[in-house]
Order: sequence, then structure tokens, then C-alpha cells
Amino acid sequence: MAEEVQYVPYQKCPKCNGQGSVSIPPHVAGDVGQWTSSATQYVCDVCNGSKIIPMCTANNPVIAVDA
Ligand SMILES: [Zn+2]
Repeated sequence: MAEEVQYVPYQKCPKCNGQGSVSIPPHVAGDVGQWTSSATQYVCDVCNGSKIIPMCTANNPVIAVDA
């Protein structure tokens, strides 16, 4: 009867797909196809290389409204 759902408060970073690095420099806009840099990998600026980020939950218990 009791359905155990493991709550994982972190998710794989959607930008670097959990790799911690991206191939586009953080300062390059998303619609730019070319940039002048010889490096091929950059630390992901979303997760800062930690590869996971705190998960956003729809049923966040922070929302508490007193009637
Ligand atoms: Zn990332």
C-alpha cells in the first residue's frame, strides 16, 4: 500500500547533461555559431562543474498557506 518514492533533490544538469563541461564558452550567446577561442571545453556555468543541480519540484513543501 505504501508507495515508496525515493526523493532525489538533485538532477542532472540540463545544460552539460551531467558532464560538468560544455563546448560553448559561457560568454557566447546561445544563437552565436562561431567564436574565437581555441579551447574546446569549458566548465559549465550552470552547475559550475558539479554536474548536478538542485532539483525543482512541483510539489515543493515550502508553499504553505494558512487558511
Ligand atoms: Zn552543467
